[in-house]
Amino acid sequence: MASIKLKNIIKNYDQTKVVKGIDLEINDGEFVVLVGPSGCGKSTTLRMIAGLEQATSGDIIIGDRVVNDIEPQHRNIAMVFQNYALYPHKSVRENIVFALRRLKVDEKEVQRRLAEVSEMLQLDELLDRKPADLSGGQRQRVAMGRAIIREADVFLFDEPLSNLDAKLRAHMRTEIGKIHNKFGRTSVYVTHDQVEAMTLADKVVVLHDGYIAQAGTPMEIYLNPVNIFVAQFIGSPSMNIVKGTLFNHYLEIAGYRLPRENLSSVTYQENIPEHGLDVKVGIRPDFFNDKNFFAETDATFNFSDLSIDLIEPMGFDKEVLFNLGEATIKARLDLRSEIARGDKMDLLVELSRILIFDKETEQRL
Ligand code: ADP
Repeated sequence: MASIKLKNIIKNYDQTKVVKGIDLEINDGEFVVLVGPSGCGKSTTLRMIAGLEQATSGDIIIGDRVVNDIEPQHRNIAMVFQNYALYPHKSVRENIVFALRRLKVDEKEVQRRLAEVSEMLQLDELLDRKPADLSGGQRQRVAMGRAIIREADVFLFDEPLSNLDAKLRAHMRTEIGKIHNKFGRTSVYVTHDQVEAMTLADKVVVLHDGYIAQAGTPMEIYLNPVNIFVAQFIGSPSMNIVKGTLFNHYLEIAGYRLPRENLSSVTYQENIPEHGLDVKVGIRPDFFNDKNFFAETDATFNFSDLSIDLIEPMGFDKEVLFNLGEATIKARLDLRSEIARGDKMDLLVELSRILIFDKETEQRL
């Protein structure tokens, strides 16, 4: 097992700066997910850990070794790719044990590990088939088996589920979580899917344009995003962002005046001008509550008389669109709320859940 440290990693392709200075510590046994929009540098970062790309500058340390100049095959890592990269003419069994044969592992040991891995991944029945005769999910399991059997110190995953349909993706996500719980190997997982990030990670690292925007536990990132980019990237449906004006004693949003004392950590201490300070305000759809089912206290605010514009039923939940001043906001309510389009309703929000951002920099205040 091994920890991983990235120290001021920079990667340029000619004039293009792709990774712009990443510092990250991954603990032994931790499951870390690198998440962010396409092109933010996730795969490049993972490939540098694997040794498939050379960093332009900075150090990569696996365990207690600086691995900058160590070839991929000597880093003791196993990698699972999006496109599986199975050998088409070899059977499932041969695909799984191929690396062990190359490493000249003792045959008895090969058989022991094969039995263990194929039982865990339910591959017993498939061992004699060729990759072409497998479903997408089965191929993905073979790719996982091939990685696991090497008993590497570190597992690297590059969007391993993105070629699967939604149902299978959810299933395999659970499987990967179970495998990690069982083996507890240090894992780095790249995805653009925030649901995978939230559900699998011990630590989520949100990348934006070659930088780490924020790293933390899934709940830290969900509840305390440092800026609007992170706030809107994590969580589905996305956080509502509306215009507001901050005064000394209250926050005004579309004519509603929210008392400041119970608002979330508004650290903004400078004197606020008399005409107020324009800000952006974030409220997650999940944090609106139907007043009929939620206790009103000093720590809640009632957005009264909101007009319902549209209702999107999801089954247990429904997503409900309201107009709040010029903005359209989304609330997620559950099936207890018996409402119809055009109705007016009151929604309560805990003041501590309302986040305030600088209008220009979009950083949390
Ligand atoms: P992500 O995995 O977050 O989608 P990548 O790490 O694959 O992003 O790529 C980050 C950026 O680097 C992209 O703009 C991509 O076009 C660029 N890039 C990746 N590989 C190369 C390369 N070999 N040469 C030039 N540019 C590259």
